[in-house]
Amino acid sequence: MSDRRLEVGELSAGRGEKRYGVVEFPVQGQPYRLPLWLINGEEAGPTLVVTGGVHGSEYASIAAALNLGRSLDPKGLSGRVIVVPVVNLPGFAARSIYVCPLDGKNPNRVFPGDAGGTGTEQMADWVFRNVISQADYFVDLHGGDLIEALMPFTIFFRSGNVEVDERSLEMAKAFGIHYLVSSVNPGSTIAAASSVGIPAILTESGGQGIWTAEQVADHTNGLHRLMRYLEMIPGSAPEAASFTLLEQFLWARSEHEGFWYPQVAVGEAVYAGQELGCIKDWEGNVLQTGLSPGEGTVLFIVSSLAIHENDPLFAVGA
Ligand SMILES: [Zn+2]
Repeated sequence: MSDRRLEVGELSAGRGEKRYGVVEFPVQGQPYRLPLWLINGEEAGPTLVVTGGVHGSEYASIAAALNLGRSLDPKGLSGRVIVVPVVNLPGFAARSIYVCPLDGKNPNRVFPGDAGGTGTEQMADWVFRNVISQADYFVDLHGGDLIEALMPFTIFFRSGNVEVDERSLEMAKAFGIHYLVSSVNPGSTIAAASSVGIPAILTESGGQGIWTAEQVADHTNGLHRLMRYLEMIPGSAPEAASFTLLEQFLWARSEHEGFWYPQVAVGEAVYAGQELGCIKDWEGNVLQTGLSPGEGTVLFIVSSLAIHENDPLFAVGA
């Protein structure tokens, strides 16, 4: 509740206060910098944690988190909000795709982290214990990476805790993006959060290094809708948005190094077994055909001609 101070590391905000600062903590013996906002509302209410930039080149999500941190006023706010616009600051600075340059690991595969692990794992451990664990509700903003075309969608995790999972699905509906996708894959921020009882969603909009006003608005409008739903900011409950619930999130990966030729666009309806692209060698011989693993909608597809072994190629929501 709002009569408590809001604190992350050395940064602290009393009731009715807003603070921006850069918190530092050791990762592999070096200081790791985490810029963030603490917005402690004048009125009591839940604690919402918003993160962006777990993948450092997903710009629509980072821009939206910056907008929220800069604009949210503790006056009129019921509850407390922590905004971390760029969790993976080394990745943002290096314009990395998928990974944190500290060790080349994908941060969204290592949560809740490991204090005795590699750099990304140590960072995830600190962020999970000191930031995400404070949440009553948690939103992690993402999008397509520099080489991914993407249809907006919201992921919620099926932890097996029915009450938490239902709250996560309600959050996803309130956020207002049309496609809702359930996930059971461990290691993500929302998997770690919901496994300790925190309702959580991961929202996706933007991609290919592009961050249009509309894509940023998918995230910012969603955050405002969610805060109205949670009665944290003034305004009526958000009008119900239409949605399609996709229970399967089916990925295809490359088995070769070579050249990737996508053959469909994001948002296209596809059938099981349909060829969505192929990988060729230098001479044009087909090394692998990317077949749709199910009937559904193409949610993202890699647009890079250069492809490595084990890279994602596309995902279909079914
Ligand atoms: Zn991402």
